[in-house]
Amino acid sequence: MDDSVLHDFTQPDQLSDLTLIVQGTNLFVHKSYLAEWSGVWRRMFLEDYGNPEEAKEIFLSDKKLNEITELLHCIYATQKPISEENVSYLLELSDEYEIERIKKRCEEFLLNQERSIQSLYLAQKHGLKILFKVSFEFAKTRTVEELESSSEYKLLDKDVVIKIYSEKVNMMRNYANDLRQSESRLEITCDKLKVEKENMKRSLQLVQDIWTTPNKRCYKHITEEKFDFSCSDCNDKVRWEIRRLCVEGQHVRVYFPSQSKHKK
Ligand SMILES: [Zn+2]
Repeated sequence: MDDSVLHDFTQPDQLSDLTLIVQGTNLFVHKSYLAEWSGVWRRMFLEDYGNPEEAKEIFLSDKKLNEITELLHCIYATQKPISEENVSYLLELSDEYEIERIKKRCEEFLLNQERSIQSLYLAQKHGLKILFKVSFEFAKTRTVEELESSSEYKLLDKDVVIKIYSEKVNMMRNYANDLRQSESRLEITCDKLKVEKENMKRSLQLVQDIWTTPNKRCYKHITEEKFDFSCSDCNDKVRWEIRRLCVEGQHVRVYFPSQSKHKK
């Protein structure tokens, strides 16, 4: 946003009925407008002064000029956007002055930023429920090193830290269970493969036996001891026998999914 379109609060304004004095600078503002945004200011004007007309100057002795000016820019008609630079102190100020709409806008701004431990900390500190929920989900998936390297980590409430760690323990427990289940599944597969291996050995032996088994020959050579490689009928019988064994062995393909894909 172009700063030139922003309201200059240091310029006296005929309609202004209140001066905020921050670090020696006068900011000319409007009581009814501030009261509309902030419950604290509203009570201050009504209760502390009895007659609202009496409140003409308020010293904000512990505040910074740029931060108060930024807050005013955000609530006045120009409505300066929330940014990475102003979000922290705007949350502080809107908490102190009960400016719920600015708080809401800060939370919306943070929800659109990348999740971080800082956003978890701000959510915890200022009671931003939605931001807390999503930031917590983020935090529990970080490594311990990542958590501890964040400067806001030390500022988190003890029970929040405990909650993060117990979530991490739960996640590890689930992971260990998954591993155990995969392990037993693999053991079952391994046993099946051992059986298959024995079956294949037997099939290979059968293939080898074909040449030495007379009843696998054609009717002309069925009594001969040696296999006659030149007989096409004998060769056909052998081929047929081997094809049958291959068909029987087809099901082992399920154990080699990538290889069976290539052969199709
Ligand atoms: Zn033959």
